[in-house]
Amino acid sequence: MSDPSLSYPSDQARWIGLVLLLLGLAGALGFDLYAEYRSAYASEREQVDKAARTVEVNLSRNLQTTSDALESIRDELPWLLSQQIEHNDNNLLNRRLQAMAVAQTGVRSLLVVNAAGRSIASSRPELIGRDFRDGERYQTISRGLDPARLYVSAPFLSPLNVYVMSVGRVLLDGHGKFDGYVLAILDPAYFSVLLDSVRYAPDMRIALIHQAGKVVFRVPDPEGVTGLDLLAKPDSLYWQHARSGQDRSLVEGRTPTTDQELLVAFRAIRPTSSPADKSLVVSVSRDQAVILAPWRKNLLVRIVLFCAIACLAAIGLLICQRRRAAYARLQAIRQADQEQAESQLRDSEQRFRDLFVHLPVAYQSLDVAGCWLDANQKMADLLGFESPQQLLGLDFIDFWGDQYRSQFDAAYDQFKANHNVDGEITLRRRDGRPVDVLFTGRIQRDAQGRFLRTHCVLLDISERLAMEQHVLQLNAELESKVEARTAALAQANEELHHQARHDALTGLANRMAANERLRSEFLLMKRSLLPYAVLLLDIDHFKRVNDSLGHDAGDKVLQGVAHLLRASLRESDLLARWGGEEFLVLLPATDMTEACLVAEKLRQGIELAPDLVAGGITLSIGVATAGPEQLSEDDAVRLADLQLYGAKKAGRNRVHAGAAA
Ligand code: GH3
Ligand code: MG
Ligand code: MG
Repeated sequence: MSDPSLSYPSDQARWIGLVLLLLGLAGALGFDLYAEYRSAYASEREQVDKAARTVEVNLSRNLQTTSDALESIRDELPWLLSQQIEHNDNNLLNRRLQAMAVAQTGVRSLLVVNAAGRSIASSRPELIGRDFRDGERYQTISRGLDPARLYVSAPFLSPLNVYVMSVGRVLLDGHGKFDGYVLAILDPAYFSVLLDSVRYAPDMRIALIHQAGKVVFRVPDPEGVTGLDLLAKPDSLYWQHARSGQDRSLVEGRTPTTDQELLVAFRAIRPTSSPADKSLVVSVSRDQAVILAPWRKNLLVRIVLFCAIACLAAIGLLICQRRRAAYARLQAIRQADQEQAESQLRDSEQRFRDLFVHLPVAYQSLDVAGCWLDANQKMADLLGFESPQQLLGLDFIDFWGDQYRSQFDAAYDQFKANHNVDGEITLRRRDGRPVDVLFTGRIQRDAQGRFLRTHCVLLDISERLAMEQHVLQLNAELESKVEARTAALAQANEELHHQARHDALTGLANRMAANERLRSEFLLMKRSLLPYAVLLLDIDHFKRVNDSLGHDAGDKVLQGVAHLLRASLRESDLLARWGGEEFLVLLPATDMTEACLVAEKLRQGIELAPDLVAGGITLSIGVATAGPEQLSEDDAVRLADLQLYGAKKAGRNRVHAGAAA
């Protein structure tokens, strides 16, 4: 199982990798943004400078043109004045000035001021005769006295209350002394058109500044800085430019007037070939916030993009790590399950092995061809081998009894098809002796149902079969003995039955048997209506025999009498010993006459018998018959007894007979 702690440094490394990657990306983005910033800024500087240069070139030329025009007026002035006098035309100079003012772009008016500071001629009549002696221009120009120089004035408020400025050239007399000046008042509207034409952005401010710091004109001018003295504010951007001493500069910084971060291009404007006492300065400014707005937007987009990428990457990594952790947990669970399953399988296999090794019966496992893969000691014992290892690889068929061997293939195929098998078979041991076995087998298959091996348990039933044979034999013997015993018992019963109904001394039926016969004969008589006869016989004076000859002799007499009587009667007649020396004879289907004949014959037979021990033995006999009129079998016996009594009484040795009373 993997150690979960090992995954921690790996995750940490991934996070570090991600952070480094993001840092790299941030660096690349930052570098790109910086390059873009530089590029945008450089481009803007160039643009701003270019706009300033355009203004500079135009206005420089314009100033030069104006300067040339003023020089031309100055040159023409003596001639024009002489012509005025000559033609008495006071307006000649004025008209000339008007014509030149119209021809000069950007010039609002032209005028000529004399040495006393009074305007003597002008393109605009309202300016003629005005006194400029106190004006800044008069002071400057009258002190300058440089005929080659163009004097550029600071802006001032015109009578129309707009800031204007003027340029002028000095007039000198023949001695080189101040003789006035010619002046051109420049038109701010012209600047407006020019300056507007180079504006390419709404935030762009383009101003004309007099070198001394006053703003001449500005487009647009929502803040109203026209006329403002920029040098009065030491921290102004123009002040920075002026301090640099350069004709042109690019200044960046916060302007105190509007508190904006500006990029400003300054360029000095001078007439292209004439010298000038002061220059004009064009300033082209742009709001840095506006310049950098697209860049800042781009920056924002990239920051958002970067944050999104960082978040997505972090979330992705987090999800990835969680999935990996979940997968690792799942793997651990699976591995634990697998180990548990393997452990259970090992336990199961061990139990199975222990089970079959210690089985009290034989166990074997065969491969698909019927060869031994495994067996226990009992199996080896069964076939006469010392150890189960000797069986491995051998063919099971070689140990089948000869009578079964031809069936092995079919039986084994059927076993493999049916999954299990049970039965009995005779195997042949290693020493050739047969052994009967009871077997049961099962097929082990893999998950796809393919045959793997067989498992079979075999039980040696040779002894059992021998035992069964022995039991069968014992059963037969027992049955014959029982039969014999039953026969003996039947015979004994019969003898017992006989003994119960016969007299032991004489072998004649006893009184119980006589009673049974009397009963059955009575019932027979009732159906047949044929009378039967009963004779009671009593030995006369028998006591004397006993007394004189002994009891044994008496017994012999009794036996002799019985024998004689039996011999004298028919088989169907009953002769029974009725009492001590009394006998009963039952003659079936016999009437009184016949009965008396028989009685007499008996009496005579005894009287005359020669071989009776005592000799002189006689009988007294009572005869009676039983007919349908009698109610009980005892009636005839009682009657015969009465007749016997009568015979005794009459003297003995005689027969007495009589019907029922
Ligand atoms: P009676 O003529 O009047 O019949 O005389 P009796 O002597 O025969 O008369 P009784 O009936 O008084 O005597 C019968 C005798 O028979 C008595 C008895 O000892 C004898 N006796 C009875 N049964 C047996 C027997 O089984 N064996 C022997 N030896 N004697 C018997
Ligand atoms: Mg008697
Ligand atoms: Mg007697």
